[in-house]
Amino acid sequence: MTAHFPSGVSNFKSDPTVALVRNVIHPLWVKTAHPAYTRYLREFQRNEYLRPEELRDLQMQRLRQQLMHAYRYVPFYRLRMNEAGVTPLDIQTPEDLRLLPVVTRTDIQKHQDLMVSSNVPSAKRLRNQTPGSTGSPLPFYIDKERVDSRLASSARFDQWAGLRPGDWYAHLWGPRAGAIEKSETRPAWKKKLLDRDLTLNTTSATDEAMAEYAEVLRRHRPRHMLAYAQSAVMFADFCNRNGIRDLAFESMIISAQLLSDTDRSLLEDVFGGKVFNRYVCREVNVIASECEAHSGLHVDADALLVEVEPSPLLPASMGRVLVTDLLNRSMPLIRYEIGDVASLNAAAECSCGRSLPLMGAIQGRISDLAHVAGGRKTTAQTTTSGQATMSEAGHGQVARATPRHMLEIVAGAGYAGETREPAWTVQRRSEARAELMIVPVQSGAADASGKQGFGDKSGPEVAISTAI
Ligand SMILES: [Zn+2]
Repeated sequence: MTAHFPSGVSNFKSDPTVALVRNVIHPLWVKTAHPAYTRYLREFQRNEYLRPEELRDLQMQRLRQQLMHAYRYVPFYRLRMNEAGVTPLDIQTPEDLRLLPVVTRTDIQKHQDLMVSSNVPSAKRLRNQTPGSTGSPLPFYIDKERVDSRLASSARFDQWAGLRPGDWYAHLWGPRAGAIEKSETRPAWKKKLLDRDLTLNTTSATDEAMAEYAEVLRRHRPRHMLAYAQSAVMFADFCNRNGIRDLAFESMIISAQLLSDTDRSLLEDVFGGKVFNRYVCREVNVIASECEAHSGLHVDADALLVEVEPSPLLPASMGRVLVTDLLNRSMPLIRYEIGDVASLNAAAECSCGRSLPLMGAIQGRISDLAHVAGGRKTTAQTTTSGQATMSEAGHGQVARATPRHMLEIVAGAGYAGETREPAWTVQRRSEARAELMIVPVQSGAADASGKQGFGDKSGPEVAISTAI
């Protein structure tokens, strides 16, 4: 391994246009294209330091407004509340939300028309849809003003990582997140004068493509990276294998997937800067993000209300993530089950002094979460792409859930090679049973989605058991 390239300002290309974009072009753009952005950004930045009870009052006020709106103008919620025998007036605290049923993706697919508000004119909303990575695409509507407030939320969190308008950043992303088809070597004018992102597509992340990324990054020397976790890890791994140590980032904003301590260390070791973990879903934008204290993810609590609700399907320390968007009126999401599982234990406060609450660590996708029978504390979780981590130390990662509900585990550092754990019985949500097989595998190949796959197996299969 070559010597570590010292991270430092000298490594980053100085660009005289930063001030122009930050002080002139970006403000002009938001003023015309996103008129509510600046107001929300100021408000959000002020809210970070509200006293906890003030923040809770603000949340409650926004929740009441959203529930009243949904009851009056959204047939789906009026029917649901009537069925549950609840009116918005019964919800006096965030905990009272439990009186309301959970909204699922299936609800949205089935009742989409009933979920659209009757009092938001079509000129004031935009249609969006989630990519089909976890099933069929999910269409939904966002108020134009909510687009502005979402941008403001993202900007608030970006600034915690030092990323401000005008700063260049490397953008390592897969196509499902909306990235373009081919890596760009030369930014188009808009990217150059406004977006400032160097998009590096990870769809076919061959060594050749990654060598090209390295070249692009050498030319532009962006200070920051915004990346899909596995894409970033894959690129870091490539740099590591090839002795590339001259690329550095001040901050790496990593989102969309589980991020293990090992991955975080690899990124920080290879690129020198700090990782800022972020929890994002397309339906509601950034749910929570890490601050400079790196002691957990702060919830976007002035725009969202996040519940982590215990479930009999899950170990006692975990719950399913339910999100209520407090600001979007054209198609409200109230107690929306994202499909993720998080730890119920979250730190009470952060040393940074912000009152935005911290949320428990994301543990994986509920649909793939394996509940280990027999009272073992271990769980294995897979994410949308079927990749996962396993919380019990020494056994590494669950690489993917196969169609037959078999789980392959990437052997971790503590794996001795001979270990034959008694076959863990895994119970999926479908009640189907499967057992885990331990297969030392090597990361590297990208699947068609652009997410990192674990297709290249190396070494013998250690233990295999099936079946459904
Ligand atoms: Zn903090």
